[in-house]
Amino acid sequence: MKHLLIISLLFALLPISSCHDHHEHSNQQPALTAPKLVVGIVVDQMRYDYIYRFWDKYGEGGIKRIVDDGFFCRNANFSYMPTYTGPGHASIYTGTTPEVHGIIANYWYDRYNEATRYCAQDDSVKSVGAETYEGKMSPKNMLTSTLGDELRLASNFKGKSLGISLKDRGAILPGGHIANGAYWFSGGEIGKWISSTYYMEKLPDWVQQFNESGVADELLSEPWNTLLPIEDYVESLEDDNPYEGKFQEEESPVFPHDLPALRDSNSNYSLIKATPMGNTLTNKLAIASLDGESLGQDEFTDLLAISYSSTDYVGHKYGPHSIELQDTYLRLDQDLAELMKALDEKVGSGNYVLMLTADHGGVTVPAYLEDLGVPAGYFEPDTIISQLKTAIDTRFGKGGLVKNYSNFQVFLDRDKIHESKLDFGQVQKFAADYLLQFDGIDACFTRDGFSNSDFTEGIPWLLQNGFHQKRSGDLLMATSPGWVSYSRTGTTHGSPYSYDTHVPLIFYGWNIASGQTDEYVRIADIVPTFCMMLNIQFPNGTTGQPISSVLFAPKNCRKSHH
Ligand code: ZN
Ligand code: ZN
Ligand code: ZN
Repeated sequence: MKHLLIISLLFALLPISSCHDHHEHSNQQPALTAPKLVVGIVVDQMRYDYIYRFWDKYGEGGIKRIVDDGFFCRNANFSYMPTYTGPGHASIYTGTTPEVHGIIANYWYDRYNEATRYCAQDDSVKSVGAETYEGKMSPKNMLTSTLGDELRLASNFKGKSLGISLKDRGAILPGGHIANGAYWFSGGEIGKWISSTYYMEKLPDWVQQFNESGVADELLSEPWNTLLPIEDYVESLEDDNPYEGKFQEEESPVFPHDLPALRDSNSNYSLIKATPMGNTLTNKLAIASLDGESLGQDEFTDLLAISYSSTDYVGHKYGPHSIELQDTYLRLDQDLAELMKALDEKVGSGNYVLMLTADHGGVTVPAYLEDLGVPAGYFEPDTIISQLKTAIDTRFGKGGLVKNYSNFQVFLDRDKIHESKLDFGQVQKFAADYLLQFDGIDACFTRDGFSNSDFTEGIPWLLQNGFHQKRSGDLLMATSPGWVSYSRTGTTHGSPYSYDTHVPLIFYGWNIASGQTDEYVRIADIVPTFCMMLNIQFPNGTTGQPISSVLFAPKNCRKSHH
């Protein structure tokens, strides 16, 4: 029996070992044992279907190149709720879920300090590059290490890690705790890329030069018009539809969006965030960082983590079926082509490995779905929670037992419950049952429920993966599919449903074969996959598993382990 097992194991290994005998490499250079650069790309709010819906309109050097020549995990999903930007970026780069890395939302209620905490908030540091509070940020609220941290440790700090995004959390969480730098955009009247004293005392010359180059002004100097003739956008709803939001002072949500005229009424430089030009600005800084930080220039693998935020702002304003959103993706496609051209030139084609994914998806505008007769709707937590408070008062004869509502969670006042000699479990159960009567709430789980059971699939599993014992609330609700708490225009995200969890995941470049898989993979699997490729330690909270179809795709002949 034992021999049989060994023999079958040998056979199982054969295709891989035979692969070692005929290394196929497009260029003539000897294979590197490690890529020079890992480029992590997060497209904020990119749904899986945008790859296909806009496919015919994409150019050749961007998304099509990554998909055609890379390995596409077509069924990659966030395995937790809430699907927000902070948790998304943390999960992508730590290889685990909020249950472990502790980034349970963008903002959450800190019961021990009775205050709201921001995911990247750090009151002990200061802004670098501008006089503003926006630089009081660091990754210290994230409880585990990241891919970048492990790359730094593995190379004795010779490999670099850098994060770039319009959003601070999109730059800081991916970069990691021992990143060389993270840069984010200060809008308003400032219009500059900034950082914090967590990383540095002053901006490096290349960032300072970039800030002085006037790129942001240039990008805002012309109206935003469609890239292609507007009648070509047949994949989207008409330009003027009731499901789109508007900029301040704009009469209708239509092209051209007169950016120079809109700056004053839309907090000046912040206007760029909800236009595709915000992604272009990010892309230009990312390309400048290649020279600025000498990324991918030696044998020590570096990490460049880029997050394109404008797709999220545009989605929130106009929704997934707007021409504005489609145009933003077509322009992002051009930005990506430009980035890859720069990577080919500066790092060398085949010397870098690139990963593209998203931090969450987004719901089709519920008002649009309602009009079509598809189940969807809007619920109002304020009303629901105030009714819950009254009901708890009446039932237990004690006021003020609900301390906070945030991120679909209710925090109870445990001290008061104990002082009043009430049963904590009973209060939880009563509240959970009570909440289920409201339209738009489909499930409600209690802290006790999560402490006493280990869910392995379905909605409870997703909620449990997002539940951090110390930081999360005492009741966790799941909305009905298609239901949100948001304006009737534009989209949002946060749910455990596929429109929010299912995102593209594509690996491209060094040692990546062209191919695809439809197997279910979790976002937490990305980092273990990279660690296997790079032969480095997993981040210290990793719960994901390497995606073997990416590692062992036919053409993938790695020689790093002889
Ligand atoms: Zn996001
Ligand atoms: Zn429009
Ligand atoms: Zn968002």
